[in-house]
Amino acid sequence: MKKGDGDMYADQYRHISARLMRLDELNLSIQKVSGYTVEQLFQMFLSGYELKPPEYQSVENISKVVGAKVMNELSVFQRAIATWGEDAQMKMVLEEMSELQKEICKLWRGKDNRDAIAEEVADVEIMLDQLKLMLDIPYEVEQHRQNKLQRLRERLEEKV
Ligand SMILES: [Mg+2]
Repeated sequence: MKKGDGDMYADQYRHISARLMRLDELNLSIQKVSGYTVEQLFQMFLSGYELKPPEYQSVENISKVVGAKVMNELSVFQRAIATWGEDAQMKMVLEEMSELQKEICKLWRGKDNRDAIAEEVADVEIMLDQLKLMLDIPYEVEQHRQNKLQRLRERLEEKV
């Protein structure tokens, strides 16, 4: 059976996940040797990078930095899941979603809490990213997202 694009992306994703697990072990040894976490080294690298605007401005370099940022985040999420376990992280998804709900209710009651809402949105986004990782569904989520956006565009066009 010929593999569809979805299968290919899912395979690639699983491959990257496995690589990240091995990277994680490497990260821990880097931390032992250098005394810095990989995130700290990464931040140092990025701040140095920003001092060179001409290089930074090329599309290729920007995409490298964005790619490195995504990989760095994935690695942090993998470690969080490995550290606290899937059960605890799934509960955190619900906890963070209810914290966001609470802040939205406060806004409806007339409170100026945009900062608090922004913080809770960030929490929920972080937990949703971990949920996608735990269930191995990032590609599926993106597919649904694109389909739903397309339907939304179509419905908006019907209204005109
Ligand atoms: Mg929160």
